[in-house]
Amino acid sequence: MKVYKFGGASVKNAEGVRNVEKILRQFAEKEQIVVIISAIGKTTNLLEKILDAFYYDKKQLPSMVETLRENHYTIVRDLMGDEGQRIIDKLDAIFKQLDDILAGEHSENFDFDYDRIVSFGEILSTKLISTYLNMVRVKNEWADARSLIRTDHNYREGKVDWEISSHLIRNKIVELFEKRNTNIIISQGFIAGTEEMLSTTLGREGSDYSAAIFAYSIDADSVTIWKDVPGLLNADPKFFPEAVKLEQIPYEEAIELAYYGASVIHPKTLKPLQNKQIPLYVKPFLHPEESGSKISASQMENPIPCYIFKTNQVLISIYPRDFSFIAVENLDEIFSIVSRNKININLMQNSALSFSICCDNNARKIEKLIEDLTVKYRVKYNFNIRLITIRHYTDEVVEQMIKDKEVMVEQRSRTTIQLVVGE
Ligand code: ASP
Ligand code: MG
Repeated sequence: MKVYKFGGASVKNAEGVRNVEKILRQFAEKEQIVVIISAIGKTTNLLEKILDAFYYDKKQLPSMVETLRENHYTIVRDLMGDEGQRIIDKLDAIFKQLDDILAGEHSENFDFDYDRIVSFGEILSTKLISTYLNMVRVKNEWADARSLIRTDHNYREGKVDWEISSHLIRNKIVELFEKRNTNIIISQGFIAGTEEMLSTTLGREGSDYSAAIFAYSIDADSVTIWKDVPGLLNADPKFFPEAVKLEQIPYEEAIELAYYGASVIHPKTLKPLQNKQIPLYVKPFLHPEESGSKISASQMENPIPCYIFKTNQVLISIYPRDFSFIAVENLDEIFSIVSRNKININLMQNSALSFSICCDNNARKIEKLIEDLTVKYRVKYNFNIRLITIRHYTDEVVEQMIKDKEVMVEQRSRTTIQLVVGE
């Protein structure tokens, strides 16, 4: 058994869906494949806006839901013309559920509503693609990840219960492959469910993680993430046109890269795969025959510098108001404020009189964080910050990177340097 994952960009239009079809025709003949699919294109962003409107500006809802509907129906029409009605009927039933939620009142819990609304993206994409594939005789079964990946009630960042999830997944997947006589099972990335079958999600971009949870549970031979790049690159070509592909990457190195924010793989994905020694391939979906990149229990061969850019960061410096030194008690308190605000620290540094953190500039969260910190601390902050991490750096490479830039914070270890600079 293998697990394939297709992200939103690879199914953003009819051509993308046809490409999924092509890849499955090519590989599913000889192989049982569990296919994990994200919401199409930028659907999750749109659903986040719909949720906002549901809370703060209901009159915007009809046109936004209409856009969501049209985005999906356009793909159906491009794929099937008039024959697409069968798919549209299925999607309509899902839209009816969404309309019903949006016609009601929101709950007291924003994150709960987030998960029950934003999870529609993956339900819609997988219903669309599964039904289409069955119509063109790429026989498959659809499975609902909300009843297979079990999490706690930590909405938007559900914590996976591995024991129950792997049991549920294994039983369901084996049953579907055996009893329904199919080689393809289609399920959703990103979404999961609680014991009571309430929807949860695994954090933005969490579909890779879903693929790893499925692979772990069924002891898959491998996971393949199909992407719009040739494989894992040593830098994001958006910032670094001369980026090159890494062929073989040890798990540890890939975990480091994902940790520092290489956006290719969701950071939680690799650990479960490493535990079971399941290799992960990153392959270009337009050229399925290419080798892509392979992450496995291998040795790092001649490391080349890898660059990770995190843009739109904020650098916050925190000073005790009484001019005391930064001590463990302050740190303890600062960390609990940061954690209560559900903020991830991308880099931190302390000096005698201040403690600085660099984190993603999520406006609403940061405003609240600064407000909470200000109660007891003096807080200074800088927006429009970029965090550059270079693994396997050399002095030349660093010099090149920081020329004409003001470096606000620098941290280095033997393998990694991190630089906080203005955008
Ligand atoms: N659709 C979700 C997102 O955009 C999950 C994913 O794509 O991995 O964040
Ligand atoms: Mg995505």
